This record gives sequence, C-alpha cells and structure tokens, in this order.
Amino acid sequence: MKSANTVENHIECLCAQCPTYVQGAPGVFCATDKSPRIKQKKGCICTNCHVWMKNHLSGGYFCIEGMAR
Ligand code: SF4
Ligand code: SF4
Repeated sequence: MKSANTVENHIECLCAQCPTYVQGAPGVFCATDKSPRIKQKKGCICTNCHVWMKNHLSGGYFCIEGMAR
C-alpha cells in the first residue's frame, strides 16, 4: 500500500524519534522515498506509527530501502 506526503502525515510521523533518523532529513519516508542522509539501520519504529497503520503498510526502513509501494 502507499502513503502520501501530507501535512497530517508529517505531524503523525514518528521518524524524528527513531534511532535510525538523522537530523535534517524530511521524514514520512514511506511517502517521500529514501534519504541520502540515512545509511545505517539502528532500528525502525514505523510499525508504531498511525500513518503505517491507517495505510496498511508493511515493512519499514523506508528511509533506507525506499518508499512504500
Ligand atoms: S510509517 Fe514510518 S516513515 Fe511513514 S510516517 Fe510513519 S514513522 Fe514516518
Ligand atoms: S523510516 Fe523507519 S527506520 Fe527510517 S527513520 Fe522512520 S522509523 Fe526510523
């Protein structure tokens, strides 16, 4: 399933609280695709996110592996 790059999703996104996140990256990677700033997996908290649940996403690490498709 897909996600969308909306203001509401930016508010709900948990990426800024994630150990993998790198300051300054945009967040909502499930909709905006991978970030060149983020390279190292340190855990993913996407499955706790309301955006993940409401869009019936699967998997995580969208910041490294690319957006939900
Ligand atoms: S599912 Fe992950 S990438 Fe998408 S908004 Fe939630 S925390 Fe951010
Ligand atoms: S996509 Fe997952 S791993 Fe990447 S910053 Fe967001 S919660 Fe963390």
